[in-house]
Amino acid sequence: MDASSPPLPPLPAFRPGWVWLAGAGPGEPGLLTLLAFHALKAADAVVYDALVDESVLALARPEAELVFAGKRGGRPSPSQGDISGQLVALAGAGRRVLRLKGGDPFVFGRGGEEALALAAAGVPFRVVPGITAGIGGLAYAGIPATHRGAGHAIALVTAHMAGGSLPQEGDWQALAAMAAAGMTLAIYMPLRHLDAIAARLMAAGLDGATPAAAIAGAATRHQRVVETRLDRAAHQVAAAGLAAPVILAVGRIVALRSRLDWLPAAIAGERDSAP
Ligand code: SAH
Repeated sequence: MDASSPPLPPLPAFRPGWVWLAGAGPGEPGLLTLLAFHALKAADAVVYDALVDESVLALARPEAELVFAGKRGGRPSPSQGDISGQLVALAGAGRRVLRLKGGDPFVFGRGGEEALALAAAGVPFRVVPGITAGIGGLAYAGIPATHRGAGHAIALVTAHMAGGSLPQEGDWQALAAMAAAGMTLAIYMPLRHLDAIAARLMAAGLDGATPAAAIAGAATRHQRVVETRLDRAAHQVAAAGLAAPVILAVGRIVALRSRLDWLPAAIAGERDSAP
C-alpha cells in the first residue's frame, strides 16, 4: 500500500483472552477479508486447519504461535474436544487466539461446534465469515453461484455426514429435484463418493447428462477443473487424478463456464505484465 492510499476502515480491536473464529477463504490470500487479515496481524496464537493455504499463514506475525489442528499424513486428527479445549486454554492464558479455517468457519467447518464450546466455557469470541468453496471455488472455475434464468437457488451439500455416511435417501430426492429444475448443487467432500453421488441423484430422477464440474484446489496455484456430466464425473475425475480438496458443482449453470472461465487469461495477463 503506498502512502497515498486511503487508510483501512476502522476495525475492532483483537483483545487478549478472545478467540476469533475466522474463515480464510478457499485459497489465495487475496480472498481473505480485512478482518481476517487484521486478526492474522494481531494474533498471539493461530490454530489452523489443513485447508488453510501456506501463503495465508505466512501473513501471521513472526512471533505468533502456529498450532496445526487437522489431519496430516494419514495420522489421526485431533478430536474436536481436544481442539475446543485448546482454544479455551489458550484464551484462558490471555492470548489473542485466531482459529483459522478454510472457506467459511460455519460451512462444514465445525465452527459451530467450536463456538458452542467457547460459549459454554464463557470465552468471548467473534466470528469472521469467509468465502466458502461452494461459492468462491465455483467463481474461480467460471461458474456463477446463481444466474438469472439458469440457477435461482444453490444448495451447499456435504457428501459426508457426521457418521461418515452419505446424506439420506429423502435428501437425494430433494436435491435431484432441485437440480432437475435448474438449480445448482455445490457438493463438498465428494471425492470418495463420486460414484454413489451420481448413482443416487440419477436414481432420484436427475438426468445423467446434467453438466457437472469438479474443481480441485480452487483459488490456489494448483487449481484444476474437470468439466463433465453427472454420469461421467466419477470416471473422468479418477482419470484426471484430481486430489482433495475437491468441490463438485452440478447443474445447468456449469455450462456458463465455456464463456466465463476467466482464470487462465488472468494468469496469462499477470505473467505478461510481470516486470
Ligand atoms: N469451511 C470450508 C469447508 C470445509 S469442508 C468452506 O467453507 O469452504 C472441506 C471441503 O471443502 C473439501 O473437501 C472440499 O469439498 C471443500 N473445499 C474447501 N476448500 C476448497 C478448495 N480450495 N478447493 C476445492 N474444494 C475446497
